[in-house]
Amino acid sequence: MSDSSKGLLLAGVGGQGVILASMIIADALMRAGFDVKQSEVHGMAQRGGSVVSHIRWGKEVASPLVEKGSAEVLAAFEWAEAIRWVDYVRDEGAVVTDIKTIVPPGACNDTHAWSTAYPRFEIDLFRSRLIETQFVDATANALQLGNVRAANSVILGSVAAFVGIDLVHWEEAIKSLVPKGTEEINLAAFHAGMTAPMAQIPAPPAEPAEYLGPHLIDIQQDWCKSCDICPRVCPEHCLKLDTDGTLLVINADACTGCRLCEMLCPDFAITIRPPAAAEHHEPAISGRKM
Ligand code: SF4
Ligand code: SF4
Repeated sequence: MSDSSKGLLLAGVGGQGVILASMIIADALMRAGFDVKQSEVHGMAQRGGSVVSHIRWGKEVASPLVEKGSAEVLAAFEWAEAIRWVDYVRDEGAVVTDIKTIVPPGACNDTHAWSTAYPRFEIDLFRSRLIETQFVDATANALQLGNVRAANSVILGSVAAFVGIDLVHWEEAIKSLVPKGTEEINLAAFHAGMTAPMAQIPAPPAEPAEYLGPHLIDIQQDWCKSCDICPRVCPEHCLKLDTDGTLLVINADACTGCRLCEMLCPDFAITIRPPAAAEHHEPAISGRKM
């Protein structure tokens, strides 16, 4: 680059709030007085697709695109996306990554056994290039605050340390851009991210030697808008909308854990857990249909 601007890359999966997070960072930097250029978001903004956004800021910025090996910071909202984009970080740069893993259906070698081709947590990949790495359990932090959808604000809070602008600019950007009524929780999530301890890297899941049983289907009825997407996409016909719009599990034993329903639900109303986690649970149907 001929200018002296800095670059930041955001990478995640459709539905994680990457677009909103990118807008908040760009807005905060502009409030801090920088010239900012932000790329269009590349990728599928729908749930499940890989999404990346480039931001450059400085006195005068020529192009929004962050070239390989030049980013100050990579903000990854999911582990595989951190691996996918780490080459864009400069040596001695920084990676802030959620320890969340989202295994796409295509990475499931054997859906019955839940064994996957998902990349392992490999911290040496970062250490060899002296990249400072902050692992954040953004989902756990957001859940503690009462809303998993604030996980992207937790990541923003952890990213703030590597951007170096005043807190007030972040707070103003968050307040002006998050959906009305969620300002408080997103600000709380941002502050939680600023002080979040290094999350423990999860141990790789043991490969089950045999079929462990069907996956657990959790439905949050309060969030379900009865759109009928999940019953239509489920290859095993596990789900059905009742005549009053209530989502029913009609074939729990057939669930292979492909997670198509979870990824395509626009309202985060359905969650699939592997059989090891489901061992002592019945399928959970929570909330009451209004
Ligand atoms: S309920 Fe969901 S995870 Fe289970 S088989 Fe159907 S689409 Fe796949
Ligand atoms: S769980 Fe999600 S995808 Fe399924 S019917 Fe409800 S809103 Fe639609």
